[in-house]
Amino acid sequence: MHDAPRPRPSNAASAALHEAVLTWYDANARTLPWRDPAASPWAVLVSEFMLQQTPVARVLPSYTAWLERWPTPATLAAEPPGEAVRAWGRLGYPRRALRLHAAATAIVERHGGEVPDDHAALLALPGVGTYTATAVASFAFGQRHAVVDTNVRRVFARAVTGVALPGPSASAADLRLAAELVPGDPRTAARWAVASMELGALVCTARTPRCADCPVRGLCAWRLVGSPAYDGPARRGQAYDGTDRQARGRLLAVLRDAHGPVAKHDLDRVWADAVQRERALDGLVADGLVEPLTGDRYRLPA
Ligand code: SF4
Repeated sequence: MHDAPRPRPSNAASAALHEAVLTWYDANARTLPWRDPAASPWAVLVSEFMLQQTPVARVLPSYTAWLERWPTPATLAAEPPGEAVRAWGRLGYPRRALRLHAAATAIVERHGGEVPDDHAALLALPGVGTYTATAVASFAFGQRHAVVDTNVRRVFARAVTGVALPGPSASAADLRLAAELVPGDPRTAARWAVASMELGALVCTARTPRCADCPVRGLCAWRLVGSPAYDGPARRGQAYDGTDRQARGRLLAVLRDAHGPVAKHDLDRVWADAVQRERALDGLVADGLVEPLTGDRYRLPA
């Protein structure tokens, strides 16, 4: 249903949306270190890796510590990938740490240690998908791109398309709409990208949109049709307790806290279900997050 043809926003409607959202952003944006004009492209790239699946409040301390330790791609690339996994701490989805390390290595090898400003070169880095490439090109280099994350899709679904929620993943129609809404001037386009994302994060939130405080409430298509309830496929939250993800997190925490190889029996202590524990450990090894050693010992990747 979300790929059905949609009316294109008129130029006047787009201009009104831009004006309202950009003005709101100037007055309400959070002060975040990766938005500081002095933040390097590397800092922006690090923030985007961390923010992919982790909320801002949890990212902030890790981001600061990471950049103090590794202020450039070369400083990270010079250390073993296991150090990246250790420093990733409890941000979750730790394969991102390995990918960020691999991206830093590729930046050193292919680009002389400087994060490239070219969208295709960004997209070719390990762990960098369409969203991250457009986000870095836009936020770090001020380029004109449609930067489409979950927050942006939700804002556009409501304000422009008139539905309660977007589909579970970005559809061709979502991307087309986002592309149509990008302002022509690159500087304004880059501000629009971050401003529309911020509106989704702070006001047009998934569960309880704060329409009374919203700068586009008078233009919002969803409100204009009476805020109909979501009628798409059922959406399930992600359980964590008792999952393999939790088991992996426990095992990895033991290895992160150790200053050398860990004996298997020390890993066995942190997760009671042996079948699930072995599956989780095998998964960590297969993902390259843990290295098996002789003598039934394990360590972070060297
Ligand atoms: S008016 Fe409400 S639903 Fe519409 S964009 Fe604003 S917060 Fe979202």
